[in-house]
Amino acid sequence: MKKVAIIGSTGSIGTQAVSICLEKGIPVTALATGNNISMLAKQAKILSVKKVCIYNTELKADLEALLSGTNIEVLSGEEGLLSVAADGEHDILLNSVVGMVGLKPTLAAIEAGKDIALANKETLVAGGKLVMTAAEEKGVKILPVDSEHSAIFQCLEGRKKEDVNKIILTASGGPFFGKTFEELENVTVENALNHPNWSMGNKITIDSATLMNKGLEVIEAAWLFNMDVSKIDIVVHRESIVHSMIELSDHAVIAELGVPDMRIPIQLALTYPDRENCSVKPLSFSDYPSLTFYKPDRESFPCLDICINAMKKGGLYPALVNGANEEAVASFLSGKCKFTDIPKLITAAAESLNVNIPYTLDNIYYITEEAKRFVRENL
Ligand code: MN
Repeated sequence: MKKVAIIGSTGSIGTQAVSICLEKGIPVTALATGNNISMLAKQAKILSVKKVCIYNTELKADLEALLSGTNIEVLSGEEGLLSVAADGEHDILLNSVVGMVGLKPTLAAIEAGKDIALANKETLVAGGKLVMTAAEEKGVKILPVDSEHSAIFQCLEGRKKEDVNKIILTASGGPFFGKTFEELENVTVENALNHPNWSMGNKITIDSATLMNKGLEVIEAAWLFNMDVSKIDIVVHRESIVHSMIELSDHAVIAELGVPDMRIPIQLALTYPDRENCSVKPLSFSDYPSLTFYKPDRESFPCLDICINAMKKGGLYPALVNGANEEAVASFLSGKCKFTDIPKLITAAAESLNVNIPYTLDNIYYITEEAKRFVRENL
């Protein structure tokens, strides 16, 4: 059985992955998270890992105290995070951290020859070219954990690239489906966090409400499957039963379906290419007498086209809009801006900042910080 290291182990994807590993007896060698030391310590003990990292260095001593009497090595900060991601005997890194902090560990793990189970969108949105080039050079697999990308990955398996006309990404439409942009002016954080189908972390739930999440997923899909953005369609599918599709040259459409539960794609990424029984209930078609499909509303949800245009412009634009979005979402969550300010702030950042600099890892971080600074200064 493949050995796994998990970064972001106390988040939504991380905790589900931990329970899958326990249930399936998948060995976990190392864990990392940002702040939640009590849960991290519990996970570390129950999984008997070799090392843990707490990203917030101020919490290291407290974590050491929680793990005293064990042989578990305690690390902290970026250095510790990179060590958990890349050093050690694991075969696969599950990257389920939120935000740009996920990019460097992905690159370090690829460099060390580890396969990547990828749940961190920013890795591909901001650093897609670096990541995919490195993965190809090292011959490592990038296994998508995101439900849509896992679906597409499954649909594409064993097919020739030239047979694929397009990718059709499904979007739930989020909690504000059917609303006009004006009606979204005064939505509250509570409204926005109330996602109809998926239970996820706060950042991604807001991204789902603005459809930024779907825009980021278009960029992710373009990198993962080496597909031009013009060949990636979006269809709003309220029930989230069809997780995504591909259209072939003869117009046959292949889809992957199931109940909306992240445990299925998480488990597949960890056991691939093997399939194992999963504790998620089987899909009962009669529970869903009608499945609906709509065009996305690009006026109410401008974040979709913001992302698509950023990918068309290329270079550092996706990193810029991603950085601006991270800051805008944090500002919305802390009551510093309106929901409808999120796309406005990202657009203003994209129009104001100079991205005419080389596409390097340093500049990916530089433009991200510049975009965040721009948003803070323009709230
Ligand atoms: Mn998704």
